[in-house]
Amino acid sequence: MNEILVAGHKSPDTDSIGSAIACAYLYTETGRAAKAVRAGEINKETRFALRSFGLTEPPLCTEFAAGQQVVLVDHNERKQSIDGVRDADVVALIDHHRLGDFETEKPIFISVEPVGCTATILFRMFERAQVHIPQEIAGMMLSAIISDTLLFRSPTCTERDKLAVKALAKLADVDYEEYGMNMLKAGADVSDIPVEQWVQTDKKEFMAGEQTFSVAQLSVMDTAPILARRDELHRLMEADRSAHGYLASFLMVTDILQEETELLFVGGIDAWVARAFATEPRDGSVHLPGVMSRKKQIVPPLLGAV
Ligand code: MN
Ligand code: MN
Repeated sequence: MNEILVAGHKSPDTDSIGSAIACAYLYTETGRAAKAVRAGEINKETRFALRSFGLTEPPLCTEFAAGQQVVLVDHNERKQSIDGVRDADVVALIDHHRLGDFETEKPIFISVEPVGCTATILFRMFERAQVHIPQEIAGMMLSAIISDTLLFRSPTCTERDKLAVKALAKLADVDYEEYGMNMLKAGADVSDIPVEQWVQTDKKEFMAGEQTFSVAQLSVMDTAPILARRDELHRLMEADRSAHGYLASFLMVTDILQEETELLFVGGIDAWVARAFATEPRDGSVHLPGVMSRKKQIVPPLLGAV
């Protein structure tokens, strides 16, 4: 119980797992025993990264005990946290997202910076604390940055993210471009994933006034096989939307190589989408060239136009 738990968001991605592992290591090395946990199932990309660097999955945590000391990484909105966070003792927040509904009862350590990945913030924390980053931790950190920035292609990527990857690649002893492509490929392979799960991939909930909408993202190397099943995807999204009472549900089908997104949506919100993206939607979707980032290019225009 006196061990701090370090947790990323639900539907964990490689940053939420990699940064939790790195942060727990840094805390422990600097005298505060900490352990990484995961808020859900590990995705294929993260599994590839863990396996590449000889690490095992952090244990699953579905609910924090009241009073449990917690460090949140890679998210701050309560809806994205492990259940029970309201009654947990959040001692630190390390994140690179907009601040949502985050509030605490007492002052805490907060490091929120507009960089491409939580691991980039942690990289500087390791430097400041003068803690050496072991090979496997460096490997998970660079995996996280490559994942969040789609190997530097995302508009969220900053110079600091690139510098961190280059330094971490030396520590991890990998060719980051070759490794990064292989990792993204491992994550982008949806062929053996049931279509029901496609619409749940990396799904996050957001508040628009009193109402909630969801945005999932499927990042692939080829969108054609996905978009060929558009009608089925719309049906599944509508089922999910009505089951959760969402205002609307979105699915970003992002082409990593072409750097574009087909944004599918349900909820009878054509006017909202048209306003947000200045494009007339057709058949429940809009084509968005150059758009890859939910955080920077999808959520802000939606919130601005709601
Ligand atoms: Mn994340
Ligand atoms: Mn992240």
